[in-house]
Formats: sequence, C-alpha cells, structure tokens
Amino acid sequence: MKKIKKQDIAKLLSQWQKDFTVFVPSKESGTAEMAVWDGKDAGFLDWYRNTVVPPKANFLQNMEKLFGFRKEGGSFKLETPPPETRKQLIFGIRPCDARAIAIIDMVFKDAYEDKYYLSRRQNSLLIGMGCVKPYDSCFCTSLGLGPAEAADVDIMLTDTGDEYLIEEITAKGKELLAKTSGAETASQTDENKAVAVKQAAYNKVTRKIDTKQIKQRLPDAFENKEFWEGVSAKCVSCGICTFLCPTCYCFDINDEMLKGDGARYRNWDSCSFPVYTKMPAENPREEKWKRVRQKVNHKYDFYPRLFNVIACTGCGRCIRQCPVNWDITQTLSGLPAGAPVTEKK
Ligand code: SF4
Ligand code: SF4
Repeated sequence: MKKIKKQDIAKLLSQWQKDFTVFVPSKESGTAEMAVWDGKDAGFLDWYRNTVVPPKANFLQNMEKLFGFRKEGGSFKLETPPPETRKQLIFGIRPCDARAIAIIDMVFKDAYEDKYYLSRRQNSLLIGMGCVKPYDSCFCTSLGLGPAEAADVDIMLTDTGDEYLIEEITAKGKELLAKTSGAETASQTDENKAVAVKQAAYNKVTRKIDTKQIKQRLPDAFENKEFWEGVSAKCVSCGICTFLCPTCYCFDINDEMLKGDGARYRNWDSCSFPVYTKMPAENPREEKWKRVRQKVNHKYDFYPRLFNVIACTGCGRCIRQCPVNWDITQTLSGLPAGAPVTEKK
C-alpha cells in the first residue's frame, strides 16, 4: 500500500490529467457534481462529503444526442457519432456511488448492449474515497455496503488525517499507480490508522433499515392502497429523488427536426412524473400513490427479482434533496406486518 500527503493530491491529478479527462467534486455550476478538474488545486477536499448530482451522470448523461438524421429525397440519412474513446478518471467517488454504477451496469449490458453507456464505462477509472463524515441520511451499512467499501473502484483512498492511504484494488488501478510518482510506501502504522478510520466511519452510519423484513413485507403491501396513499401524501411529484438517485436510470427518447435536419436525443426521465410512461392509450400510474409505490418496489422488489440485488445503496440523496422531506427509510420501516392486502378499488 502507498500513501500521499493531502497537499500533494494536485500533483497526482496533474499526472493523471495527461492520459485522462480528470473529474473531481466541484461546486462551480452551483450544484455539487463531478466536473472536469481545472488543473489548479484540490480545494474540494475541504468541503467534499458527497456530490448532489451522482456520478452516474458521467455514464448516462442527463441529455445526449444519440444520432443525427437528414431528410434526403424520400428517405433519411443517419449520422451516427463515433464510439466514445475519451478516457475519464473520476476522482473521489464514494463507495455507494461506485456500487450504484455497478448496479446499473446490469441494465445497460443485459438484453441490449448500450454502446453509449458501455464505451464510457470501458474507458473509465474510478478512484474511490472512503467517507469519514457520513450524513445522517446515509444508510449504506443496511445494504451490505459501508463508508470504506472498495469492491467497486479501481483505487481506494482513506483519509488518515494529513494523508491518504492508497490501496490498489483492480489490475487497472495497479497499472495506473505503477506509473504514478509522488506516493510513498505506507507503513504498518499507516495501515493500522486506516483500519481505525474505517471502523469509526462505519459506526457513524446510524440510520438503519431491515432488508429481510422489507423483502417479505413489500410484496404483501403491494395492493394496500391505504398505506401507499398515506406515505405518498406529501410527495409533490417533482422527480428530484429519481433524477438524483444514483441507481435510477429511466430515460425518454425525443426526435427534434428543423427543415429536414434532425437528431434523436436521450434524456433522464422519472417515474414520479404523471406523464411518465404515457402510452398510446393511457398512463398506467395516473395516481400519485401508484407512482411512489412503483419507485419503492422497483428498487426493493422488482430489481432484486431481475438481478438479485437491491437497487438502492443507501446514499441518502433522496432524503437530503426532497423538498418535502419524504423519506424512503420511513416508508420501508413503516411497511405493515401481516397478511397480504387485496386491492380495494
Ligand atoms: S423528491 Fe420528494 S416530492 Fe419530489 S418526487 Fe421525490 S418524494 Fe416526491
Ligand atoms: S433510493 Fe435514495 S438512498 Fe437509495 S440509492 Fe436512490 S437516492 Fe440513494
């Protein structure tokens, strides 16, 4: 293992910037997100806890042009963009957000291989940074994760005070570190310090949910209209919780055309919107309680049935960012016990 002084982080980033587009936490746009490093300093280390916009945006962009088309005579000529070859390095990704990307990978390489998403994934390196100050809204430890989980990153950094301990996790991470200068070999004392930091961070995540109980109670509560109406009463269907959720991946497709020139765009969508899934005949979830039920069930029941993993990492964004303080952990913990309820129309 290696270590580096915090004041030398910019030197690491400068080296990596030669081969990668380096993304770091930034508030430049007014909202904390991963943005291209300006090559100056690592001042973000002073305020960074997590971004508001999750790093899924580096792979599934909030809006992207899929291809262009031009009307020529009686047909259309397609202009497909070349495959993405830009190599990106995301510095400081939190363990929950790295896991979220691993979770949505399953969708984009399952029945249909999404070349836009997958080319970005293949050309990326994730440099994880363990949390030392989890938010009150975090509950990652209930989802088999933790503030120091390193399974989904290439390199993991642990904040030990004035320094970071650096662990190479994957072959890609090892290769990068081998050609990076400026990091020293860590001592046993450094490693022991990191173990203590990780344990302390784990203990700071005090919000809990019981996933075993949820697994049984959620399907039983599916037709319980009264329960879902109650928990969805204050939701204003703004969609923030889904846009900012690192595991939500729904998108819409739109064609724009002006004077024979057009393009097809993909943009984020949200099952919280009344117009979502507006099929030719009807929206199957016109009532708000059905949309809230969908959001919760998709993460905690439907996705596990498809991919054997809960599509929630306990990052807490949906709790922190909801304008009316809707709280998924309250909903999950409040699921009624007892026999399944049959739908009352
Ligand atoms: S952020 Fe809150 S109010 Fe907005 S859709 Fe989600 S739960 Fe509803
Ligand atoms: S549902 Fe909420 S806590 Fe779970 S991953 Fe999404 S934003 Fe994070």
